[in-house]
Amino acid sequence: MARGYTSIVISNENKKRIEEYLKSKYPEFPPPISTFISKVVIDYIEKDEVMRQYGPYMSFVSNNENTIFIKDAKNDRVVPVRVVIKENGQFDLFCEFDERNDCMHVGFVFALPEFYKILKEKGVKPRSLK
Ligand SMILES: [Zn+2]
Repeated sequence: MARGYTSIVISNENKKRIEEYLKSKYPEFPPPISTFISKVVIDYIEKDEVMRQYGPYMSFVSNNENTIFIKDAKNDRVVPVRVVIKENGQFDLFCEFDERNDCMHVGFVFALPEFYKILKEKGVKPRSLK
């Protein structure tokens, strides 16, 4: 095992299932199974941490093609968070309530599947995890 890495044991059944999924999703260049599992698990943990931190008083209300509306029970209001597509094809999120792109509402939106649906509809790739 290379320095800085640890092996993890999964069942052959799960390995087969994951490999089939990766081959169907990325027919030309399926990523290594270990890369995929790490990415999915870290993504899950990051979203779960955001939800545990903000989840008790924030909830998804609705969205249109450019904006996600969050109910903020702490401030007793619905907060619009705009998805801004930049010229270079990247995106930014802008909270209309705080007038900034790094508040707790923006952090919450990153954990919502509705946000990723909007990006997909606009043909924008989410940032990859580091
Ligand atoms: Zn905000």
